[in-house]
Amino acid sequence: MLFPTHLLVAAVAGRASRLSTLWLVVGAAVPDVVDKPLGLIGVMDIYQTVGHSVLLLGVLTPFLLSRRRGRMVVVGWGSHLALDALHMVVNGRPADALSLAWPLATAPDPLGLPPGSFLEFYVGSPSFVLELLLWLFAGLLLRRGLPPRPGTDVTGEQG
Ligand SMILES: [Zn+2]
Repeated sequence: MLFPTHLLVAAVAGRASRLSTLWLVVGAAVPDVVDKPLGLIGVMDIYQTVGHSVLLLGVLTPFLLSRRRGRMVVVGWGSHLALDALHMVVNGRPADALSLAWPLATAPDPLGLPPGSFLEFYVGSPSFVLELLLWLFAGLLLRRGLPPRPGTDVTGEQG
């Protein structure tokens, strides 16, 4: 999925829960913040490697879970990986999800498109339509007015 959509989903999840929106969004940003520059400067030849690795997330999870903010980073990071896997399946390229097991496995035929070219490829795909629906849903939530966060009363004070 596109980077802004990962951030949107994390922000909505934070707003609908007791979790910190900021740290959920930070976690959701990690995979692309790590991997896109590595691909763009040529360190990696594809754009979903170390930051998109379930294995790295698994290795770091015990350390992150030992910290309050780290728990939310794990949730946000995991949401990014789950949404990317969903987009690969929805777009008929389920084998691309193997890239989430980097470095033990890689997609047999990765797209390997830099961000700009990826956007041209992606616009109009079924997953892109799904993303538009997510943005529409978020827009409707904002228009209706978000419900108070769980654990707050109508004045916004912590309960
Ligand atoms: Zn991603």
